[in-house]
Amino acid sequence: MDLSDLYQDVLLDHSRKPRNFRVIADADRKAEGFNPLCGDQVTVYLKLDHDRIKDASFQGSGCAICKASCSVMTDEIKCKTGEEIGKLFERFHGLVTGKTTPDAEALGKLAVFSGVSEFPIRVKCATLPWHTLRAALEAKKEKVTTE
Ligand code: ZN
Repeated sequence: MDLSDLYQDVLLDHSRKPRNFRVIADADRKAEGFNPLCGDQVTVYLKLDHDRIKDASFQGSGCAICKASCSVMTDEIKCKTGEEIGKLFERFHGLVTGKTTPDAEALGKLAVFSGVSEFPIRVKCATLPWHTLRAALEAKKEKVTTE
């Protein structure tokens, strides 16, 4: 099996059965994001332990890439600090925009999004969850949009 087939399977699995697709009723942070280009709409919920993510979840509706990105992201950021998440987002952004050579080890599960760089219109679908996460970490009140 070729690596891109494997990635495709992982993405499909996450978009069909998203992990952490729930509301955290007593969330410490929450932010909403919208990608008008595609119609993706997400709300990210966080439980914090000081600067560390204790729990993360999301709700919303979006395309397969957006849902898969929310699902993998909310899994990958658990137990990480805001600073670690900032670095991870930088790597992820470089990966999906094709601007940096992917460092598979540092990316972990996020590496499955490498194919997104071939579809520039999908980059915002993949990064919307991360922009929304950043707004939640920064406790921003206004809705995030990718435009
Ligand atoms: Zn989308």
